[in-house]
Amino acid sequence: MPVDMKDIVALCKRRGFIFPASDIYGGLNGFWDFGPLGVELKNNLRDRWWKAMVITPPLGPDGAPVDIVGIDSAIIQNPKTWVASGHVGGFSDPMVDCKETKKRYRQDHLIVLTSEKADRWPAFHEESENADMEKKLKKLGMPSDLSLFEKINLTKLPIEDYAKIIGPDTKEPGTLTEPKEFNLMFETHAGPIQSEENKVYLRPETAQGIFLNYKNVLDSTRVKMPFGIAQIGKAYRNEVNPRNFIFRSREFEQMEMEWFCHPDEAKMWQEFWFEERTKFWKSVGLGSDNLAMRPHDSDELAHYAKQGLGTSDIEYKFPFTAPGYGELEGIAHRCDFDLKSHQEHSGVKMEYLDPARDNERYIPHVIEPAAGLTRGVLALICEAYTVDESRPSGVYLNFTPAMAPKKAAILPLTAKEEHVPIAQKLYLELREEFPVDLDIKQNIGKRYARQDEIGTPYCFTIDNDTIEDQTVTVRERNTMAQERIHLDKVSNYLREKMKG
Ligand code: ATP
Repeated sequence: MPVDMKDIVALCKRRGFIFPASDIYGGLNGFWDFGPLGVELKNNLRDRWWKAMVITPPLGPDGAPVDIVGIDSAIIQNPKTWVASGHVGGFSDPMVDCKETKKRYRQDHLIVLTSEKADRWPAFHEESENADMEKKLKKLGMPSDLSLFEKINLTKLPIEDYAKIIGPDTKEPGTLTEPKEFNLMFETHAGPIQSEENKVYLRPETAQGIFLNYKNVLDSTRVKMPFGIAQIGKAYRNEVNPRNFIFRSREFEQMEMEWFCHPDEAKMWQEFWFEERTKFWKSVGLGSDNLAMRPHDSDELAHYAKQGLGTSDIEYKFPFTAPGYGELEGIAHRCDFDLKSHQEHSGVKMEYLDPARDNERYIPHVIEPAAGLTRGVLALICEAYTVDESRPSGVYLNFTPAMAPKKAAILPLTAKEEHVPIAQKLYLELREEFPVDLDIKQNIGKRYARQDEIGTPYCFTIDNDTIEDQTVTVRERNTMAQERIHLDKVSNYLREKMKG
């Protein structure tokens, strides 16, 4: 049965994963807050990425671990950064407006159902579901059999055809305007004077902070080519149509690594990182066929990758994109675009003198695995969401133990005096090492149900037998199977499970 996104959003709010930002004021379109469990889940994914990139980076093709260091750069940088990077001027996606509804859409995000036989061609957001398309066709009095139409991205249609197109939120054709540029960067002013000279931008990607520090890192550490610089942090884009929960928001987090290498090795490293990044997403629980790998079409290449090897995407089949996929991470060959451009705009030399190559001087090429942390969290939640009508909660979150926000819950069977102190003692011991919950009140069924809904993999129950023989019941979330283990073994038990 397909999962309904509304149910996932409702669970996220009910159990404290994700709330609309400024909820008491009715929210703010494109902004979200992470609640007590959401922040733990996000930190788990973030820390796993940092470990996989910076603390224990993979072994390279020669068998030695590759060299990657981390940084944390400012969100606001000298505005010349964004001129050099191509974001001022370049970071604007062509937009079409609807003259009737005044709504604005990204041209490359609309798909049109075209047919030689029809004189009206309905347009939809690219992430629309087939059922919604069929519904709208019926409403328009058109045949609702999708096989009669061809789905074409709006960027592929000539302006002459716009007269036939019915916008996503209208009933009559011809309301969409020609595409225009629209800058996605948020602007503000540094200092008290709101003048043009003081205009600064919130970063639209974390990558540029890395390029700005490329020389600082080379001069202050012992890294040698090839090497990487990694960063995790917030990025801001004034998306025209924020939608699909946290999938496309205006404030989000990225996990990016810029891998600097000799131009001749770019292809080898792009393939290397594509494979490593795929392994990563599988290791955090996206092992199913919901994960897909896709090389980019050449006509959707970003401005920096035009002459290079292009970008390959790792995609996930979200409930709102199914049967299609949405981008989770892009592994781009950025060539020497950024360093060269910063060299031109700043006058600072970005060349590398390579002693391993007879002192050859070159500007390195860059392979960039750029992932969305926020989008990754959404993929983990969607993947984990499992309907099971046989259990009281009706649903459980099947997180891997390593990703689960709470690793275990300690539940005294009753609030009786004998059970509670043992539970408290176990809780104090376990929390030194793992995020765990101590839940004393309510009947045990309700407490299990709550833990199922938040994806806690193990529950340890203290009962009368515990007093007799020092054993506790372990209940495993997915199978609901129960076994008894000795109190002394509990932390070791959890430690072993966390390795998975
Ligand atoms: P899209 O085509 O979906 O707008 P993009 O190709 O512009 O994305 P990149 O610039 O490559 O995205 O950013 C890297 C990653 O950052 C994306 O793979 C995605 O996971 C994440 N990301 C980008 N934009 C958003 C957003 N508005 N909200 C949440 N995550 C985002």
